[in-house]
Amino acid sequence: MTHELKTGGDRGYLRIATEEAFATQAQVDLLIKLVKDGKADRGITSLWGFYGLNADERAMKTQARLLDLGEGRIADMDATGIDIAILSLTSPGVQAYVDVEDARRVCAESNDILAEAIARYPTRYYGLTAVAPQDPEWSAQEIRRGAELGFRGVMINSHTHGEYLDNPKFDPIFRALADTDQPLYIHPTTPPDSMIGPMVEAGLDGAIFGFGVETGLHLLRLMTSGIFDRYPSLQIIGGHGCEALPYWLYRLNFMHQAGVRSKRYECLKPLKHDLYHYMRTNMIGTTSGLASEPSIKLAIEMMGEDRVMYAMDYPYEYVADEVRTHDLLDIPADTKKKLMQTNAERVFKL
Ligand code: CA
Repeated sequence: MTHELKTGGDRGYLRIATEEAFATQAQVDLLIKLVKDGKADRGITSLWGFYGLNADERAMKTQARLLDLGEGRIADMDATGIDIAILSLTSPGVQAYVDVEDARRVCAESNDILAEAIARYPTRYYGLTAVAPQDPEWSAQEIRRGAELGFRGVMINSHTHGEYLDNPKFDPIFRALADTDQPLYIHPTTPPDSMIGPMVEAGLDGAIFGFGVETGLHLLRLMTSGIFDRYPSLQIIGGHGCEALPYWLYRLNFMHQAGVRSKRYECLKPLKHDLYHYMRTNMIGTTSGLASEPSIKLAIEMMGEDRVMYAMDYPYEYVADEVRTHDLLDIPADTKKKLMQTNAERVFKL
């Protein structure tokens, strides 16, 4: 241990953790039912078969922490020097539910539960609106309701039953984001059945690899489909170092331009800007699950120091030394303050 972790800014900045998960009992119960009834896809069966049903200590402790929006969570934040948590309904939100009415009901209830928790701890919690993309028009209304409840952005857990947000049917969601001027966080879920086969076969479908690959694909699809040409002020946040896109950026951009020039794919149309522009204007990365100095520096270098934010990924990642890794990063003090505090204050209008 190199230093004590305290809240209150003793290192020159507050620590604002931006990808912090909670669950509701109704959400968990329905996920478990889906798995037990054999109605979940392979990924959710793998993920929630573990976190929902396994007696393993990590699974049980994680589930208990997810469900706690009270003193237990605040004590864990205090113990690791986290001043503020940006809370969102844990993956897959309500997006795995087959029954759309179930999805809408649990989603609205979860947003109400989060709003109540924030009212109890207004200096420690902010929240993101959960939506049910199964019903895009309803989700657009819920985004507007969330803004009225005081939420500071929207959380979507990647694909919904194998469908991606560049599908025009989801446009009402982007319209509502633009109208309310809120950022969209795209968090991983397990890959859809069409993608997961060789991953689950090797035990690599979850946070270890499948999450990042599938969500990186989602973020890239949104960029190449021209979402930021249609909504130039839209801000999309990706966790886990923006799901490795900064590392790939040169190649993504080079091959995207080559693909557009050759007209190889009808769907790859010219964009107003190159991918560097969107990564540095519209995309934001967080450091959830990526407490590694070279990785964080690379994200900052590729995206710009205004576009990377700290995240702990509680309760899936609750490691005090990872907070210390951030505190000890060999970067200028003003860059570190942006990373830990002021970028989140700007993005979420805290
Ligand atoms: Ca997470």
